[in-house]
Amino acid sequence: MSYSIAIDGPAGAGKSTIAKLIAKKKGYIYVDTGAMYRAMALYFIEQGISVIEQDKISEAAAEVDVTITYEKGEQIVWLNGRNVNGLIRTEEVGKMASASSGNKDVRKKLVELQQALTKKENVVMDGRDIGTCVLPGANVKVYLTADSHVRAVRRYEELKAKGQECDLDVIEKDIIDRDYQDMHRELSPLKQAEDAVLVDSSNLTIEQVADAIIQLCDKGAE
Ligand code: C5P
Repeated sequence: MSYSIAIDGPAGAGKSTIAKLIAKKKGYIYVDTGAMYRAMALYFIEQGISVIEQDKISEAAAEVDVTITYEKGEQIVWLNGRNVNGLIRTEEVGKMASASSGNKDVRKKLVELQQALTKKENVVMDGRDIGTCVLPGANVKVYLTADSHVRAVRRYEELKAKGQECDLDVIEKDIIDRDYQDMHRELSPLKQAEDAVLVDSSNLTIEQVADAIIQLCDKGAE
């Protein structure tokens, strides 16, 4: 049986950085499920579909091909055979991903892909519904959160380091709006699974959070 660690939480809580670090330390595969929703969202944007056109989103979801491969431990997302890793990390794609992730056809397709990935490999998977829906039997479940202002400052610093112009208040508002949308959708809303451990990273370093999660794995193995 493969081993799985599920990490859910709101935008910018540090899920992917921490999941990547744990995957490296444990020799597991890191599965970034948000990247899959983003790849589909990119396709919808490229097709000129707007967020209110749910029928068109369903149709497009049925025809689009999203796959995942790994190169030197790095997840590569392929959209209809095209590597889109460099195109999905924009605010525009993030907003479309959040708006289209409430669509049942989008979720069905991506949840199947995510579950298939865990069949053969030990994984650290992050997202919004991993502990509640994708991997209800995960060995360790964590709900990782942080104060919204702290999350906004982290994202602001990240963008500034990349030389991008940005406004802290706008970033914080976007984060709060996206969390609201993800927590209040009908299908698989973001929430803490009953058996997940809550970790607040507001005052913790990446190493501290990763070590705390690895300790949870070790505890489970005793
Ligand atoms: O984590 P990331 O910001 O890349 O995710 C983009 C969007 O994809 C989220 O705001 C959420 O709406 C959606 N998502 C989801 N379920 C997941 C992962 C992401 O609905 N497991």
